[in-house]
Amino acid sequence: VAGPQAERRCLRAFPGRSQSPGAADIETRCQPHRKIFGEFSSSSFGDFQGVFDQPQEYIMELTFNQAAKGVNKEFTVNIMDTCERCDGKGNEPGTKVQHCHYCGGSGMETINTGPFVMRSTCRRCSGRGSIITTPCVVCRGAGQAKQKKRVVIPVPAGVEDGQTVRMPVGKREIFVTFRVQKSPVFRRDGADIHSDLFISVAQAILGGTARAQGLYETINVTIPPGIQADQKIRLSGKGIPRINSYGYGDHYIHVKIRVPKRLTSRQQSLILSYAEDETDVEGTVNGVTHTSTGKRSTGN
Ligand SMILES: [Zn+2]
Ligand SMILES: [Zn+2]
Repeated sequence: VAGPQAERRCLRAFPGRSQSPGAADIETRCQPHRKIFGEFSSSSFGDFQGVFDQPQEYIMELTFNQAAKGVNKEFTVNIMDTCERCDGKGNEPGTKVQHCHYCGGSGMETINTGPFVMRSTCRRCSGRGSIITTPCVVCRGAGQAKQKKRVVIPVPAGVEDGQTVRMPVGKREIFVTFRVQKSPVFRRDGADIHSDLFISVAQAILGGTARAQGLYETINVTIPPGIQADQKIRLSGKGIPRINSYGYGDHYIHVKIRVPKRLTSRQQSLILSYAEDETDVEGTVNGVTHTSTGKRSTGN
């Protein structure tokens, strides 16, 4: 139902760093993007962090070709995750943990408030059931610590500038927004790419072949005789993979005719002869004058 237009609007709606919405928010607003997200996380999103625990966002720079063809890119993140030193237990490895006598190790305490008997989390051990006497030196007993992790982001072929994916890192999830650099050769419009091809006047008139840089290989382009300036040659399926459907976009080659600024004397006389025979010219051609019969002739 949602076409590429809706998709793009959806992505633009993704606000900046300062006011990043909760994950559920993005998912409902960006339905077409489930597929992108899905590729990164085979695990369920059920254990996603609460709203108070905002996921971290990162920016990843990609070259035009990396975005077009996809790439596995290494990336370092600083993320709060289960402390590796104590394995999340909170006590310094090798030290003993005291059984909480207050709650008998259950982590729950019973409070008698007149007619009611309430059960709540043990205040002494915070529900752990045990008391840490020697806290882990890395996380100071919290069981969670900031960690530098190297992750490989499998950037799917066809990502666009500003698109965001999320992926799990340990027990957390991070958002990665892509910044795609411009290409000196290609311009991009969704899955389609555009490039310019400069050809000579003779090539334009007589036709021929020319070599053009393609996204995947060098392409031999057939120029039909009489091609016009700014005419487009469409190379079907030579564009970028479509990210939310099957197949590839197209490569459009925009023909530009390079007009020579200098001519040899032979070329000069040939082009004047050509101009003599030319009809339907609006105005005049330098060096060519009209004869009384309406024919053109070179002016010497
Ligand atoms: Zn620790
Ligand atoms: Zn306790």
